[in-house]
Parts: sequence; structure tokens; C-alpha cells
Amino acid sequence: MNLHAIHHVSKSNYCYMYNEKTMQIKLRVAKNDINEVALVYGDKFDWDNKQEKKMTKLCSAGLFDYFVVEVEPINNRIAYFFEISSDNEKVYYTDSGFLDEINNEEVHFSFFQIAYIHNTEIHKAPDWVRDAVFYQIFPERFNNGDTSNDPAEVKNWGGKATNDKFFGGDLQGIIDKLDYLHNLGITAIYLTPIFEAETSHKYDTTNYFLVDKHFGDLKELKNLVNECHKRGMKIVLDAVFNHCGFLFSQFQDVIRSGEKSKYVDWFHIEKLPIKTEPPNYEAFAFVPTMPKLNTKNPEVKKFLLDVASYWIDETGIDGWRLDVADEIDHEFWRDFRRVVKAAKSDAYIVGEVWSGALPWLKGDQYDSIMNYSFMKHSLDFFARNTISAKVFKESINEMRTRNTMQVNEVMLNLLDSHDTARFLTMCKNDVKKLMLAVTFQLMYDGAPCIYYGTEVGLDGKGDPDNRKTMIWDEKKWDKKILNHYKKLLKIRKDFKELRRGSFEWVEDLGEVIGFKRVLGKNTIVILINNQDKDCTIILKVRGVLSDVISGCEVNQECVQVDACSSRIMSVEDRQKELLGSL
Ligand code: CA
Repeated sequence: MNLHAIHHVSKSNYCYMYNEKTMQIKLRVAKNDINEVALVYGDKFDWDNKQEKKMTKLCSAGLFDYFVVEVEPINNRIAYFFEISSDNEKVYYTDSGFLDEINNEEVHFSFFQIAYIHNTEIHKAPDWVRDAVFYQIFPERFNNGDTSNDPAEVKNWGGKATNDKFFGGDLQGIIDKLDYLHNLGITAIYLTPIFEAETSHKYDTTNYFLVDKHFGDLKELKNLVNECHKRGMKIVLDAVFNHCGFLFSQFQDVIRSGEKSKYVDWFHIEKLPIKTEPPNYEAFAFVPTMPKLNTKNPEVKKFLLDVASYWIDETGIDGWRLDVADEIDHEFWRDFRRVVKAAKSDAYIVGEVWSGALPWLKGDQYDSIMNYSFMKHSLDFFARNTISAKVFKESINEMRTRNTMQVNEVMLNLLDSHDTARFLTMCKNDVKKLMLAVTFQLMYDGAPCIYYGTEVGLDGKGDPDNRKTMIWDEKKWDKKILNHYKKLLKIRKDFKELRRGSFEWVEDLGEVIGFKRVLGKNTIVILINNQDKDCTIILKVRGVLSDVISGCEVNQECVQVDACSSRIMSVEDRQKELLGSL
């Protein structure tokens, strides 16, 4: 038995409350090393009534296997240890390490423990996000609905995107296209920043309480929110709280008044007077026009938390996406969550963190993150073809084990964004590859997020080429991609399993990716063939297998998946049919 590989941490993603009743406990072991694991658990003050439950193998990832079990703690607390067996060996894994024998008298000393479970500390993610399909809009480039608010010298729509030029997109333009989004199957939009700023991307806020005049005004924002809500759509705005813009009045005051300014401590200033080349103050990525805010200063914190609640109270927005979220202190985000959830209890809080984000995802800060790991694995497998189906599946497994189930259920899963090259460009414009990745994204767990234009074949390298104007000339749309999105989003809407069901791989399909979404007695099976050759798969399922698109019955012994294509099938339980006919 490889003891070195065995790992568990209490009060973490390895042991947490999924909801008020159910606790999930995970154990990591070496791959293919352990036959059986049982969890022995109980109340430390009533250990005689301890229970034992067999753990099941959750998944494999890299060097490891993961086992899982769900239990209901009694009396709001739990003490536990693992009984781990391989061929001829058995060990007990406890908070004191590995033991050959268990001394039940030492429950207080030796066992893993959650001393008391506080309901208020259980992460409750907003339920609506599980049903949501997000659409990310870069407002300056989406649609120009009002030419009277255009910046001077706007470029012609469709022209080459550059960082210093404007095209005139605005909030009215978004309102005008809400029916387009609604018909596509979008249920939530996320706007990159819309408050007063100098640049086209507006990540350099100069006034947090003012809609940028080139985008519209408060009235138009309220109108946009109302028009979204009328269509059953949610809207999330971008909170840029790590840094402000150079012309932010408090920073300008420091430039003007130096040490006499009451705002000196609002920033991280090394030396006065302010110098910009290079900046003698902390700035986002050393960019002098983006001075970093000192969020530990109570005045700054109050100012930004007022911004967060103001826009919810004033306009009714449904959440915040947090820019550069991992460069701001945890205490700020804890207070941010309190303020935001007090203003709107089901507001969605999604952080921009590109790597493992567990410290922010325990229920006291964000609900989830922009899932850049999902993007990376999708790029490697679908766009670049640099990893096998096995490695792709294990990478997704590893990603899933990083967080709690409630976080995975509301992850913002994206293929591209304003900060990356467009997925289609990464596929060297091979539409089929993009469509396979889209199939995985839209049939997978969590909330898919579509970057504007990807659905009509908009391509682009990194910034600023990934911020081209949206194509509104339908003749220029790639209808094949668009119809693929429409078809899959309709399926996602019609089959609740795809939004609420569990996620499980179908194993032993070689280079074909197969997974199931299971909810109660209903199952959807998805097969994706990422290769240049046709494949025939034997699928063993209980019940009648039928193609959800054609409605035709599928022979389980011989499921055809053509080269670079996918199959989506439902499993009809025969038992249910029989009961219905009685
Ligand atoms: Ca305009």
C-alpha cells in the first residue's frame, strides 16, 4: 500500500457540507492501489453508536484515485477515520496519521473532526445559476444602438480592432439585441465594465457611480436590467475593485496635493510625489494608468462596498463578476459577500481567478470562478489535440476534485473571453473542432458562458483582436455554428438532467469521450468523437436508447459516432413505460 499518496484534509474540499443535511467526504489514494475504503464515523460524545459506510471510487486523475462517500452527521458534528484495505493489508487513517489498530477511547485525540456544523457557514450558491446559460458582452464592440452618444471619431463597424479606437457600442445596443440572445437560448448576460473610464475596455474606472457616457446613463442601465428581467434573463456586472483609473478623482488628488491629500492611504504609494515612468506606486501589472487600491483601508473598503450595493439596490442587477479577484485580500471579499447577499440574497458572485481558487470558494467569499482550467483542458483536447481522451478526462476530474460540488454546479465554464484568443482561432478556424468543444461545454455541468460572437464564427487572436465588433450582417454569420448552439441550447433547456443531473464518465470507449448526466430515473448520454475516423461504440444502458435530435431508437450494440462529431441520446427506462401502461 502506498501510504505516501494517501491524503485527506478535514474542513476543506475533502470534507464539507454540500447542503444542510449532506456531508461529502473524499479520500485521495495512489492510482490502482486500494481495493476498499470504509468511513467509520459518529458523534465523539456518543462513539458507541458509530457507523461504517463503504466509500465508492469517484474518479482517477494523474497519479491518484479518489474515493467518496456522503453521510448525514448526527447532532451537528462528526468524528471519523478511514479503514483502508488493499490485497493483504489494512490500515486506519486518522488525524494522528496511520494506525494499525484503533483505540476507541482516543476519539477526541486521534480522529478527524468537525466539532460543530454551523448552517450559516454552509456554502449556498444561487440556485438559478444551475439553469443559466451566460453570454459575455464587451459593450463597446457588441452593438451601437445610439449614435448620439458615440465617442468622437468612431471607426466603422467591422473595422480592425485596436486598443485606442472606439466603435460606439452601448447599452441601447444591448437592449436592441436582447431578443436575439433570448431566441438563441441565453438566460443571463455578463457585461465587462460599464462605468466611466477612458479606455474601450473600461477596466480603468474613473467614476464608480456613473455609467460611462458613451454607453448610456442610469436610466438606460435600469431599462436594460428591466428588459432582461422581462425575458427571464439575469444580468451580472463587472466589479473592478483591485485598481482604479488614472483619472479617478482620489488618485488625482494625491497627484495634486501630495502628502497633504487625505487619499494617500487609498493607494499603495512608495514615494511622493507621484511618478509614472516607472510608477512609484503599485499598479495592476505595472500599468501606470491602473493604480492599485488599498482595500485594507476602511474608507476604501466602505467606498467599494457602497458601489457593490448601490448598483444592486438602484438597478436590480443579479450579481458581480470580480476583476483580478485574487489580488484583493480575503477579508475584503468576506465583507463584500455580506453586503451583496444582504442587498440580494441570490446574487451571483464569480471571481476572476485563473488557477486553483479554493481559499475563496469555501462559501464565505465567491460562489465560483471563471473556469479557465475548463478552457485550458478544452483547448488542449479539442483545439490543439495535444492530449488524449484519457488525459482530458483525468484533467477534468482533477479540476472537479479541487472544489466542492456546489461550486462545480455554478462554475462559469468558458471557451474564450476578452482576455484570451478566440477558441475558433485556436482551432485554426476548424469549425468542427469548435463545435465539438461547444458540445462538451453545453452538455457539461455548471453554467456555460459564451463570449459574444463565438456563436456566429467571430474569430480573433489575443487582445485587441479578440475584441472585434460583433457581426450583425447575417450573410456573414457561420450558420452551421449558430444552428449548433441553438440546437444544443434547446436540448439543455428541454432536458433538466443536463442542468441538474450528476456528471459521470462512460468508461472504456477508447479515444471517444462519453459521459452521462443522470437525474432520478432520467439519463442523457453524450458521445464525442474528436478523431478523424468514424467509430462504433457498444453502450450498455438499462432501457431504450434514443437520439434526442432525430428521436430514433439507437442500437446499443452498435452506436455510430462519425469522425469529428457527437451523439446525444436519452435513456428511456422501460420500467417506467410498463408502469405507465398499467
Ligand atoms: Ca453609441
